[in-house]
Amino acid sequence: MELFYEEPYLRALDVNVIEKNEEYLIFDKTIIYPGGGGQPPDSGYFIGDSFKARIPFAKRENGKILHKYELIEGKISDHGKIVLDWERRYALMKMHTAEHILYRSIENLFNVKFQKVELHENESLLFINGNISIDDISRAEDLANSIVEKNIPLKFYYGNIEDVEDDVRIRKDRIKNEKIRIVEIEGFDKSACSGIHVKSTSEVGIIFVKSIKKSDFFEIKFLSGETAKNFIFENARIVRKLYLNYNIDQSKIEEKIFNSMTMNEKFKKDLFEISSSMFNFQLIEKNGKKLYYSDFPHADIRGVEKRARKMLENEKATVIYGNENDEKIFILSSELIDKELIKKIMEENNLKGGGQGNYFLIAVKKENFKKIFDELLKKFS
Ligand SMILES: [Zn+2]
Repeated sequence: MELFYEEPYLRALDVNVIEKNEEYLIFDKTIIYPGGGGQPPDSGYFIGDSFKARIPFAKRENGKILHKYELIEGKISDHGKIVLDWERRYALMKMHTAEHILYRSIENLFNVKFQKVELHENESLLFINGNISIDDISRAEDLANSIVEKNIPLKFYYGNIEDVEDDVRIRKDRIKNEKIRIVEIEGFDKSACSGIHVKSTSEVGIIFVKSIKKSDFFEIKFLSGETAKNFIFENARIVRKLYLNYNIDQSKIEEKIFNSMTMNEKFKKDLFEISSSMFNFQLIEKNGKKLYYSDFPHADIRGVEKRARKMLENEKATVIYGNENDEKIFILSSELIDKELIKKIMEENNLKGGGQGNYFLIAVKKENFKKIFDELLKKFS
């Protein structure tokens, strides 16, 4: 059995180089996992008395494990020590066991099928066929964490692909070898898997689902261990701020947010209605030409535009409108707009904008809004 399976907690190992080329090293033995089962390959260093090389990854090729290397100092000799990026590897071991527990929890509760997994040290992705709700995921999370707490040892053994039992999670279409490795969490899950795991479920610490999303498959983003704990604390602190600062009953936060969002939508609609129906423009009339304008800072600009267009259906005029919060000024006219008038102001003030025919839009920073608005009024009146 390979050493990363036999001794998954080994962080350093004395080795001999048995093959070497410009890019890769092959050792007589190794603790660098070459990746597989959704788990990325390990990284680490190869260090000797007079040299140091980075091993960014390893890969399996024709039954051999090839270690990519990048020399940092000295000249590589045939003997040295492999030192694993242990924190990363241990995080991946926890993640991998977390994935087995989480997936089995979901499958035990809901009608879903495993698709694939992408393990990373900080957050991982589980893809399933099927659909589950936010409340469903909470139930699965509870089950998963109860398995973590039970501190069940993991067992690893090999079997033939033909004799594999029905309760083993396996993608036979993806298995290349006759012999398969089975990872068992006793009484809970059996899975054909080539990955590196922790020795007991409690080592995972905690499992937390960060998000769920329907893509081609159903995507579940999850965290484990320290990362999960930090994320939960961070979120709990945000919630605490909400209920303390706004004096909301903690259990009613969701309801309160929902209500205020609904109210906000209603206010937006009302504002649009008011802006498009009751709103009055101011008028400058010179030499028989009419210039309407509005720079009311709280107007709904789409509502104002609707009102302006309606007005121009019935009379010959130009309308200039905008509100400083949107940082835009609009010019709408019943006739073609003289672009030369606008161009000059834009050039002098280094502004961006554009338009065609009887419509023009200029982007204006809030602090310049009043000044530019007044200049446009002067030009057009
Ligand atoms: Zn696995």
